[in-house]
Amino acid sequence: MPRRYGRYGGAYVPETLVPALEELERTWRAARRDPAFRRELARRSTTLGGRPTPLYFAENLTRRAGGAEIWLKREDLVHGGAHKFNNALGQGLLARRMGKPRLIAETGAGQHGVATAMVGAALGLRTEVYMGSVDMERQRPNVERMRLLGAEVHPVESGLRTLKDAIGAALRDWIENVRTTHYLLGSAVGPHPFPSIVAEFQSVIGREIRWQSRRAFGRLPDLVVACVGGGSNAIGTFHPLLHSRVELLGVEAGGASARSGGAASLSRGRPGILHGAFTYVLQDADGQVAETESVSAGLDYAAVGPEHAWLRDTGRARYLAVRDRDALSAFGWLARDEGILPALEPSHALYAAVREARRRPRAQRIVVTLSGRGDKDLEVVARAAR
Ligand SMILES: *Cc1c(COP(=O)(O)O)cnc(C)c1O
Repeated sequence: MPRRYGRYGGAYVPETLVPALEELERTWRAARRDPAFRRELARRSTTLGGRPTPLYFAENLTRRAGGAEIWLKREDLVHGGAHKFNNALGQGLLARRMGKPRLIAETGAGQHGVATAMVGAALGLRTEVYMGSVDMERQRPNVERMRLLGAEVHPVESGLRTLKDAIGAALRDWIENVRTTHYLLGSAVGPHPFPSIVAEFQSVIGREIRWQSRRAFGRLPDLVVACVGGGSNAIGTFHPLLHSRVELLGVEAGGASARSGGAASLSRGRPGILHGAFTYVLQDADGQVAETESVSAGLDYAAVGPEHAWLRDTGRARYLAVRDRDALSAFGWLARDEGILPALEPSHALYAAVREARRRPRAQRIVVTLSGRGDKDLEVVARAAR
């Protein structure tokens, strides 16, 4: 379990958190070798989570693109409507193993808060979720869901009142309550060991892509595409394919216009430290963390997981940014061509995939990770259409 990815990663945290991070790493090392833990993770992933999710041939979207075949990895069908559950379940089981009765989490789009609340209810752990008040406004149905699932939602009123501020609030809570509380971090970000733990729980996506694509078309895909917020669905897609020849493409949020930074930390950021890790961070000229904006709350984050920073620098993966209006177009294509309402986050990846498909011969296969469903975004999409 690497502490660093090249020069990226590490654990830049206050002294009080060091024992908790060490305990988490110890627990995780023991759990992953424990057949009983692995059996319970697999069983609940299936019976509660709905795994394995299908690999779907998007025939009509392929015809629209007019080139390589486009296949969808259907993480939108996971319990709760997004890939977030894969990680929440794994860490919930780790919290129980550590004997910690309380979960805290941060959430942007609300998907991670919902996943954590579901897991907290199923495992009998008290759950409290920090969410920026701007995000609470943008994603009201998910706030309702969390409350109905028995979680307490704390509005965060500091900073821009979005995901970055919610992470800060959750970290402060953790520092105060570290003996009784597990911080269930929602993406492959933050201090070691979180990026590697989250990557491993999400790697179920890429492992299923591996066997499902062999079964569906007799080999691995030529290209996989995934959206990148903190980077957990993308790293889960990429990880099991790192040592293959499959091309890896990560898609960040380009925001509203060419001038805005969006939330594209890898395309437009510089190396720096945010939330305990050395990684690419969107910064202004003075090195202050820059404001981010995106039509999708789930991609609206100023940094990115450290492993992506390393994959970018080494060239093993490629990253690009897609704008709001192009993501909205891709949302409409998938809805009308395939009868699937995608979340706005993977709509960014879909747009990039269609563009790639156009340039490639019909014999090639592209797999896009459809990280979540679009129900939470209907209001935003309707407003954009007016
Ligand atoms: C949270 C979220 C994302 C972004 O998070 P990653 O950690 O980058 O995967 C993407 N898609 C959906 C549907 C989400 O809920």
